[in-house]
Amino acid sequence: MTALLLGALGLTLSLVVPGILASARWPDRAPAAAVVLWQSITLTGILCALGVVLAAPQELVSELGSGRPVGATALIAALAVAAVIILRLLASLAGVTYRSRTRRARHRMLVDLLDTAERHGELPDEVPAGLRVLDGPLPFAYCLPGRQPRVVLSGGALRVLGRAQVSAVIAHEQAHLRHRHDLVMESFTAFYRAVPRPLRSRAPLDAVHLLLEMVADDAARRRCGAGPLGSALAVLGDAVTPGGPAEPAGDADQDRRRRLSRLAGDDPRSMPVAAGALAAAAALLVLPTVILVVPWLDQALSAWPL
Ligand SMILES: [Zn+2]
Repeated sequence: MTALLLGALGLTLSLVVPGILASARWPDRAPAAAVVLWQSITLTGILCALGVVLAAPQELVSELGSGRPVGATALIAALAVAAVIILRLLASLAGVTYRSRTRRARHRMLVDLLDTAERHGELPDEVPAGLRVLDGPLPFAYCLPGRQPRVVLSGGALRVLGRAQVSAVIAHEQAHLRHRHDLVMESFTAFYRAVPRPLRSRAPLDAVHLLLEMVADDAARRRCGAGPLGSALAVLGDAVTPGGPAEPAGDADQDRRRRLSRLAGDDPRSMPVAAGALAAAAALLVLPTVILVVPWLDQALSAWPL
């Protein structure tokens, strides 16, 4: 019964819940807490898959009343499958991390070589040490995370943005770097790639990407004001992908601008929404363990033919 319930919970979390959460409106008010909830959903899904693998053979053996050799074989098979799941996740994480580190190191070298920041008098007075400016007519801005982070602006962006807007864009990129949004996106990308195709959903990746943009918007809004940031976004869009595979769609940029104009001041309802999301995230991780896994473990440890 434990395996069945964990299986049902795992499938619900990977196939049903992402669609519902991705279309909900409340994450706008508490994007950081919503990211934590997505992380909890993903982690609980993984734990459910491991729980099914470990509980199903034991339950089957005790149901059929098979003897010691069958039980031992089932135990070894279950441990092997659980090990494959964990290794697949770790290999995916290592692959994603290695590829993005390598790509960024090359990219960092190029922007350092092509930098023309000292020729741009239109930069604000206070600029971060890792700011680089690339000549070119297209207006864009992005960041390169890592131990030697860079914020990259184009000459085109400096031409079309005022100083206050440039400061807001830099503050947005610095928030991505400070909070290591690249690591959050890499963990979701690695999980997405490790899950077998019929069971995986892109909804968490896209939703978390947009939520991280909102988190960076909030940091920039607090430092530079919603007005300059909103108008800069209208000019630029956001060319940043902090380690993720997809750019936010045009609709997402519009959502962010609408949200900024709505949240010109602090939102009094964001605190309870965030608290609710964090409580749900904690409950999701703890409750299945306490209600399903602990009683099963108690019974299974005495039943396994060891
Ligand atoms: Zn961004």
